[in-house]
Amino acid sequence: MALPELAARSALSKLGARCCTPLRNQSRPANGFLQTQQRPFHGQRSSPAAVDGGRQSVARSRSAPQSYATMKRLSSGFAQTAISSVISLANPQDTKSGGARSPVLRPDDLFHSFSDSPVPEIRRRAAFIKQHASCPHPDHQPGTGNTAAAHVNFECPDCGIPVYCSKEHWADDYEAHLEVCDTLRQINEDDHDLRSGRFFPEFEYAGPQMDEALVNLTNWDTFLYTRQFQAINDDRSMRQATRLLTYPATIASVLHELSPYSFGPGGRITVEGLKSISALRYTLHPPKSGGGQDVKSLRLEAPPVRLFILGARAESSLPRDVWVQLAHLFPNARFHLIFIGPESMANRDDEFPLPPRTPSNPFGAIVEDRVWPKMKISTIVDYYHNIHRTGYFYPYDPYFDCFVLFHPGLGHPASSHEWEETIPMLLETKAPIIATGYTQTDMERDVEWVKKTSAGELDILMEPGENVFRSLRWDINDMDPQDVSAGNWGTWAFRGKRYETTHKSES
Ligand SMILES: [Zn+2]
Ligand SMILES: [Zn+2]
Repeated sequence: MALPELAARSALSKLGARCCTPLRNQSRPANGFLQTQQRPFHGQRSSPAAVDGGRQSVARSRSAPQSYATMKRLSSGFAQTAISSVISLANPQDTKSGGARSPVLRPDDLFHSFSDSPVPEIRRRAAFIKQHASCPHPDHQPGTGNTAAAHVNFECPDCGIPVYCSKEHWADDYEAHLEVCDTLRQINEDDHDLRSGRFFPEFEYAGPQMDEALVNLTNWDTFLYTRQFQAINDDRSMRQATRLLTYPATIASVLHELSPYSFGPGGRITVEGLKSISALRYTLHPPKSGGGQDVKSLRLEAPPVRLFILGARAESSLPRDVWVQLAHLFPNARFHLIFIGPESMANRDDEFPLPPRTPSNPFGAIVEDRVWPKMKISTIVDYYHNIHRTGYFYPYDPYFDCFVLFHPGLGHPASSHEWEETIPMLLETKAPIIATGYTQTDMERDVEWVKKTSAGELDILMEPGENVFRSLRWDINDMDPQDVSAGNWGTWAFRGKRYETTHKSES
């Protein structure tokens, strides 16, 4: 096993005992994330001066987003808490450590009210929700002149989650609550399941695809079956597994030649989409080289496809086996995953301090080049637009480059200003941009915002809609527990408008 993978996993194993991210972040000072143990990463040693320089530069880039980061978590930070928990539990060191963790909850004993949960972490989460979420009863609406705003304090007996300020308001608004109550109960049980101490076979990942076996990307069932995932037999395991696999599967489902999204009547891929995606597929599905041993049949290996994952948060700390699934889906391609964003080292405290910024590594990237023979991962704690301006990744090539924005909150009032500089640069590259949203509303707000800010200088490559490979697990927003969302619920794609510069020779 490659060293970087070990390092990444050891980082993940630290997550187990953490409370919800919002609490943790709130209690930390600005840049507090840097004051963790100063262990050289991957054996690289840094001089104190270099470390200081690195910290300062990160601190600078961090000072602006700090308020944003907190605010976004507090206002729209759906799912970051939940996914951090899943990630920590998906870590093989946690799940396979034999006697280290003994089961605390039986599979038939997963429902507990959050406040009276046997799991301390969930009790702390209940306290957080009660402190921050407001009662949704119409009486509290501003302008109605009825009742002042009030925090939630009453836990619905059916879902066990604090949802109203009082039993009276809960009973009075019961019909509205019923729309989400079943889902909330499922979330409650899934959260307890995750901390039940059971063995998690669903976090064992399938190895390379057999040469002659085609993967079927029609839906999660066919994907897991044809990829020979073992032991995902029930809905709960499916929900836990897809919470992580949604990241590589969402990317693959758009780019793969066997994509479930089609072009033509009823399909979501547009004419422009077909052009862009075909270019990438040309690189991702190269013809077999013939494989001869003699000099004549040697072929130059194509450079890797660069996937720029911007605004990266929890996804950058996914177990590497999850990302390697992408490599298994494109066995003849090479990938370079580049996570970029001020929060791209979230959950990876053990890997601090960051490597110093040097002429050969100007952005202090953490490089994991042995994740898989055909996959390399780099992580950069900075804004993409700061890097773009330097020309560091230039030139961009539609056959080799693609941007991915997982729940970027482009149109969210708390985060859209952060994308204002970035989006025009992405459009300028003319490389495809795949984006996702937590809910339909979240995604549509992003689409509207991009259309408005780009003043029409964009082509939609894939129409917005539900993601075939969304997380099947639902998450609650701790600031508003009835606001239910799913990781990568929806997906769409776009790029900067391309104008034909050559005359068509045919047709
Ligand atoms: Zn109320
Ligand atoms: Zn309920």
